[in-house]
Amino acid sequence: MKASAGRSYLAIPGPSVVPERVLKAMHAPSPNIYEGPLVEMMPGLVADLKKIAGTEHMLALYIGNGHAAWEAALANVLAPGDKALVLATGMFCKGWGDMAEGLGADIDVMDFGNRATVDFDQIEAALTADQNHRIKALLTVHVDTSSSVRNDIAALRALLDRLGHPALLMVDCIASLGCDRYEMDEGGADVTVSACQKGLMTPAGIAMVWFNEKAAAVRAAMPRVSRYWDWTPRANADDFWRYWDGTAPTHLLMGLREATTMIFEEGIEQVWARHAQIARAYWAAVDSWAAAGVGMELNITDPANRSNAVTSVRWQAPHATELRRWVQDHAGITLGIGLGMSSDADPNADGFFRIGHMGHVNMQMALSVIGAIEAGLVALGHKPGGQAPAAAAEVLAGAR
Ligand SMILES: *Cc1c(COP(=O)(O)O)cnc(C)c1O
Repeated sequence: MKASAGRSYLAIPGPSVVPERVLKAMHAPSPNIYEGPLVEMMPGLVADLKKIAGTEHMLALYIGNGHAAWEAALANVLAPGDKALVLATGMFCKGWGDMAEGLGADIDVMDFGNRATVDFDQIEAALTADQNHRIKALLTVHVDTSSSVRNDIAALRALLDRLGHPALLMVDCIASLGCDRYEMDEGGADVTVSACQKGLMTPAGIAMVWFNEKAAAVRAAMPRVSRYWDWTPRANADDFWRYWDGTAPTHLLMGLREATTMIFEEGIEQVWARHAQIARAYWAAVDSWAAAGVGMELNITDPANRSNAVTSVRWQAPHATELRRWVQDHAGITLGIGLGMSSDADPNADGFFRIGHMGHVNMQMALSVIGAIEAGLVALGHKPGGQAPAAAAEVLAGAR
């Protein structure tokens, strides 16, 4: 069947599907950046983005992707030689740590592997051994998009508090914001970073860094911060250009305004609940294929540690890649590749695939992906058994 005869669906964990409403909001002539609607909407948009992140503190915006958000946050708190502890639960936190190293920080990577959350006993030991409080920041990801693990941020805060350790708790919410429940102030993060192209449903190009008073004090004590990355003028913009240190990303802003409006129309609690239900439908489907003897399995075993934004699946190479290709060529659905999961035995990551279910997703989209995977399994000569779509339908019907 010719996939191009109908709609295509990019079901990778970012960039995500951009809603028609967001595309339409962006279809406009270039707006004035000195006065008028775009300038006037900024304070409201900033307030809404703080609400989405669950914080009453500060927000600095940048033109950039997630990597820009990483660098922006680090550049404000880590001077060359400063020590940071990187809590790696997949590829993404390692990437953030690498960026800190590039800025001259002295990083220690604690690698918890690709299938587990951070380990609190090990972190406690490292923090306890740090008698002189040299560790200035903990870098962690809320959801690691490669492994699809979700870490407990509030528990990290509780640990730091219990040990009386002053390190900043810095959290990457690039995959999770607008998908998995996240409340920055309640969870006790000092810095949160995200970007607009995943749960926020906007084409890539706006990076966000939220920070509290404690982080601002660390910034104030820095020997220097480059003018462009400095979050202070951006968070206290007294003129429109200061939010961006130059020309605003005009059309992305129109899109992001519409996307955040959609989130508030639905209600953030409902947005989280929708993602949770769709994620459970995918898990039920993969568990059914596993039970039918297909040989695939969810990368994260304990449902409590799984993200609602993305699902990583392990499946003996070359099956995962063959399935991805079949689904792309015949069903018009693009699944995510395995990222950062490969080993020497599987150098091409052909033993993994990921399903992105972040942002603008609903029941029909999840069922179409699950149905297309079922078809692909049959076509490729496996015996999926037909139970996976039924199991997913039961979850989505609220029957389990
Ligand atoms: C996507 C992602 C990034 C990187 O974002 P880019 O926009 O590709 O730079 C970083 N961290 C996490 C958790 C992500 O999901």
